[in-house]
Amino acid sequence: METQIRYVTGRTARARIRGGQLVVTVPRHWPPTEIESALAKFKRWAHKHSQTLQALPMPEDIPPVSLDALLDAVARVNAETVDVAYLGVRIGRSRYTRLAQVNLKTRILTFSRYAINGLPERALRYLILHELAHLIVPNHSAKFWALVAIHEPDYRRQRQIAQNHYQRMAAIDDRPEELPPPAARPDARRPAPAQKKGRGNARPVQLSLF
Ligand SMILES: [Zn+2]
Repeated sequence: METQIRYVTGRTARARIRGGQLVVTVPRHWPPTEIESALAKFKRWAHKHSQTLQALPMPEDIPPVSLDALLDAVARVNAETVDVAYLGVRIGRSRYTRLAQVNLKTRILTFSRYAINGLPERALRYLILHELAHLIVPNHSAKFWALVAIHEPDYRRQRQIAQNHYQRMAAIDDRPEELPPPAARPDARRPAPAQKKGRGNARPVQLSLF
């Protein structure tokens, strides 16, 4: 895998995979041997990580849904189903928010781009229906799900598809791998002295590569 190294002023080394490239950020004050060892660890991590992800689509390879296309889809689904009055549609860029939401005051629907890009058509239709239905029933009561079920009998499965897709997309795109400063790492330390109690250097050392 092609590797790009950036030297920065931070304390932590990070790695992420972007567009098939391993991008490593290392603090420029780290000793060269530490940088080398971090690089080797990140490369091993990237190799395993990319093998795991090979079967999944990378967000970079998925054409984004345009706002125009989304507007059309919402209008179409609305006409086919609940036929409510809504006042706008937005594509949200945040990563770890909800798949979609509707503001009941402004009647504007917002869909996370991570939720909609690459989502199979039927699950997208469900997601749109779900938000539109909230303009009739604001909560997730039995009445709400009964309304959704009228227009999408397979809503449970479509909901699961949409949620899985979102989690995968939101995670793959920007999940960095981190190594703490050398001083905090066990392999840069002398053997630990006999357990001293009460003096908590409580911060756990994070060396997990997964
Ligand atoms: Zn809802």
